[in-house]
Amino acid sequence: MNSKPKILLIYTGGTIGMRKDFETGALKAFNFSKLLHSIPELKLLDCEIDTFSFENPIDSSNMNPEHWAEMVCTIENNYENFDGFVVLHGSDTMSYSASALSFMLENLSKPVIFTGSQLPIGDLRTDAKENLITAIQIASLQEKGKPLIKEVCLYFEYKLYRGNRTTKINAEHFRAFVSPNYPFLVESGVHLKINSELFLQTNERNSLRVHKHLDNNVAIIKMFPGISETVLSAIFNIESLKGIVLETYGAGNAPTEEWFLTLLQKAISKGLRIINVTQCSIGSVSMGQYETSTIMKKLGIISGKDITTEAAITKLMYLLGQNITQDDFKNVFETSLRGEMQ
Ligand code: ASP
Repeated sequence: MNSKPKILLIYTGGTIGMRKDFETGALKAFNFSKLLHSIPELKLLDCEIDTFSFENPIDSSNMNPEHWAEMVCTIENNYENFDGFVVLHGSDTMSYSASALSFMLENLSKPVIFTGSQLPIGDLRTDAKENLITAIQIASLQEKGKPLIKEVCLYFEYKLYRGNRTTKINAEHFRAFVSPNYPFLVESGVHLKINSELFLQTNERNSLRVHKHLDNNVAIIKMFPGISETVLSAIFNIESLKGIVLETYGAGNAPTEEWFLTLLQKAISKGLRIINVTQCSIGSVSMGQYETSTIMKKLGIISGKDITTEAAITKLMYLLGQNITQDDFKNVFETSLRGEMQ
């Protein structure tokens, strides 16, 4: 007899489990297990659900690499006993966390699905119930007794996306996320529309490898017309800095002024990894297409191609934690490791 899929629900915090503080009126993280009792629908799902809650649930604005390591440890410790994982998380930094976990969990053969909501689960008009119930249903999908999805995803407002392709674009609407450079994997309507040809293909023979060490000696710099040498050189000369995600214009273009190029060149020769990502939501960096990016290509700037900034900064932290040689780093970064870039 086939047993029901077992899903572990990991509550890290976020609006989904928050309640209004009576004195201040502000939303605060709350004991989630109590709230779960108020969703009797969960008992109707065709799977077994267990829950694990962070000891101190957080607003995801307080997210950091230690919390990511805690999530990864929870998944690792429960990996053999569950068929899928649903991570309840605040929407503010959900794309960063989904990206980070996609790199920290190598050779996944089970789904890890992030979800949350814009309104608390106790609110009458909440979007939490649909997000939670469908995320659990999708995490339970199986084919020949094995999980159908084997990657880190994000489910929000009727769509399942590859987690490391997403970005939060709306602080107001229930449709808070988009995946600008990769199509959605599943759409929930009357039926689940499953685009399995878009799923990440993994080699079943490789077992799960967990990476808990990320290096956060990194920075994101967004270029803007008028950015000064004083500001940029102050950042580039931070002693402990090892990598920068440089948000450039259009297809990866930046100023060709002498001081800027000298700054880049000096930074690269002292070993700083500089990743070129575009400020545009859609499309890719293509260094060499314009004169304004040709020199960057020659200097050895790394192309982020069509990666999101969220995936770029977490991939940078992950790869810096992997002791990859200076020579190999560019090549490895420019390779898609978990479907995060073309
Ligand atoms: N501030 C909340 C958080 O990210 C917002 C949300 O949950 O949607 O934790």
